[in-house]
This record gives sequence, structure tokens and C-alpha cells, in this order.
Amino acid sequence: FAPWEDAKAKPLISFQNVTKKFGDFTAIDNISIDIYEREFFALLGPSGCGKTTLMRMLGGFETPTMGKILIDGQDMANVPPNKRAVNMMFQSYALFPHLSVWDNIAFGLRRDKLPKDQIEARVEEMVKLVRLDKFARRKPHQISGGQRQRVALARSLAKAPKLLLLDEPLGALDKKLRQDTQFELMDIQEKTGTTFVIVTHDQEEAMTVASRIAVMDEGLLIQVDTPARIYETPNSVYVADFIGDVNLIEGNASPRGDGKTILHWAEGQPPLVAECPHAPDVEARCTFAIRPEKVTISKEKPTDRTNAIQGKIEDIAYLGNLSTYSVLLANGTRVKAQTANNRRLSRRELTWEDDVWLSWTETAGIVLDK
Ligand code: ATP
Repeated sequence: FAPWEDAKAKPLISFQNVTKKFGDFTAIDNISIDIYEREFFALLGPSGCGKTTLMRMLGGFETPTMGKILIDGQDMANVPPNKRAVNMMFQSYALFPHLSVWDNIAFGLRRDKLPKDQIEARVEEMVKLVRLDKFARRKPHQISGGQRQRVALARSLAKAPKLLLLDEPLGALDKKLRQDTQFELMDIQEKTGTTFVIVTHDQEEAMTVASRIAVMDEGLLIQVDTPARIYETPNSVYVADFIGDVNLIEGNASPRGDGKTILHWAEGQPPLVAECPHAPDVEARCTFAIRPEKVTISKEKPTDRTNAIQGKIEDIAYLGNLSTYSVLLANGTRVKAQTANNRRLSRRELTWEDDVWLSWTETAGIVLDK
């Protein structure tokens, strides 16, 4: 499933050079994104970056100052929210407290005056979909937070919208429940084939649920790609740093002529060698980014690696399945190395103040242009 790689695929949603200003303030700055049918698309970024504004424009609750939004090829400029094949699920769920689970889900269908038997059949299908058939007669206060979230989801899917917008849908749930609910959400999205666009500031959540992620910052779109590519090949220091844990080492990068890049990063230290996409083809000030789990830590100097630097263990975080070592280098730089704790007992012998070697392969990191 990768319609975005198919040049002939028609997007369900198309943002075309969309800008949104509130007075002098630019909340969305010239953003273009295509989203395809059946995608689970995440808008990710820190508070205030414009995620909600972008979603509200899609729902028709805000109008772009410039640019166009198309849904199914149709310009949405003069189409009010209720005339779009879009539904929105809000963070607060907004369930009716005096209505049962069943009646909450049936509400929109009854308002649309659908035939009674059709409503019954549809609500039946929905309570089964979200596994609440046993709770259909209960009121919202008689079910758990996670179950309420599922009622809200069933209610927003009852009218079979083409597109469902979810604004921080799991924001009210605690971490464990939130993780379980993410899998449920993916399952329901797949079963119904509805296109989901989710707003979240939680990078782990976006990585878990999304087919693709749009990373935003201050109204700008920084990168759109699959979770794996966002993680493995971020296009900027901002994305590398926002998604997951990363070591950032600044230096002067220059091409070595054989497709590899060398990075001079500190006096008296050997240069680093990297082979990576988007490395500059002239000498330039750059940042080298490497994930802690790609860094190997050892007491002995590794013989088979070009990139090997020495340091002292300053801190160890034991996380059960993983341990993270913070290593201080001679020039004051700190580099984190993360190892799995499932085997290799020898690694557990590493302790505070130990002199160690950090090493990695030439393809393990990435050089990012300023
Ligand atoms: P959060 O995660 O905190 O909800 P967000 O990324 O969804 O943040 P938006 O709600 O889209 O951010 O807001 C983007 C920027 O636009 C913010 O600086 C916000 O203050 C501003 N903004 C949003 N709506 C309005 C408005 N109606 N009038 C003026 N400024 C607004």
C-alpha cells in the first residue's frame, strides 16, 4: 500500500499552496500535501505549529487565505462543513451524557431521518466494530474512558464518511491504554477503509499508526514520508531531533570523491566517514546525526570499523529491555549508545567511568545540511 509512489494515483485530498493568516500572523505557510484514499495520515509537530488549523481548513471550519483545498478533485472553497464527505472527532468526544451508547451512535443517523431498520442495522454494525455490543444500553458515565473513546469513534463513522479527522483522539487516555487504543484505531481504520487524518504532537503515536507523517514547524511543512523513512532518513536536523532520540555532531563535511563524506568534527579526533543520501557535494558546515541504537559500545577498540571514537561512561540508564549509555568524549561532546539487554552479558560489565569505544558503520548515520 503506497499510492503516493504511483504517479497515476489520484489523491483524495489535495492541499495546493495553502496559506492561512490570522491578521498579520501566518499560521500556515504555503503548504502543499496530497493524501490518498485509505491512508492513515498524521499531522505531527509541536504545539502551535499549525496542525489543527490545517485540519480545520480540511473540515471547512476555517478558510484558506491563499491556495486551494480539493477533496476528490473538487475545490472546497465554497463548500460548507456539512456538505463535505468529512467527519471530525474532537478530543473531548462530546458524547451526550443522557443518551445510551446505542443512542449516541444512532444520533446522526436519526437526525438525517434514515429508515428505522437501516439505522438499527448500521448501529448494530458499529457497536460490533468497536466491540461495545455488550455495553450498548449503558450511559457514557457507566463505561471507561477507552470505551467512551470507542463510542465517539463509532459515532463519527456511523454515516460512513470518506474522510475522518481526528484531533488528538487519544489525548485523554493514559499511556498504556493509549498504546492499546492505537492498535484498535488502526484495526478499525483498516476494516472500514476510511481515510483517517490524525493530529498529534506525540511522535511515537504518529510512528505507530500512520501510513505517512507530515512533520510541521511554525506553519511550515518540513517533511512528508513514511514513519520508517522519516526515522531513517530525516531531511533536517529538526526532523531528526523531533522523531526519536538522536546524537547530533557538528562539523565540516566534504565529499571524498568515492560517494562517501568525511566529517571533521573536533581537533585531535579522527574524522568520521559516512555514506548517506543528501550529503552536500561541496565542503560545508553540517550536522552528523546518528541514532543511539546504531552506536556500538565496547571496551576494546573495534578492528573492523572506520568510525571509532573514545570516551568515558558518564551515565547509564537501565530501561529493562534496553540500556542507554551516555559517553563523554575528550572535547566535551556527549554521545549516547543504546544496547539491547537480551544477550551479551559482557555489556553489563560496563560501568560508570569506564573508558570505552563507540563505533558505527559508514551507513549508520546521516549528514544533514544546515
Ligand atoms: P496544539 O498542538 O497546541 O493544538 P497546533 O499545532 O494545532 O497546536 P494551531 O491550533 O493550528 O496549532 O495554531 C497555530 C497557530 O495559529 C498558533 O500560534 C495559534 O495561536 C494561531 N491561531 C490559531 N487559531 C487562531 C485564531 N482563530 N486567531 C488567531 N490566531 C490563531
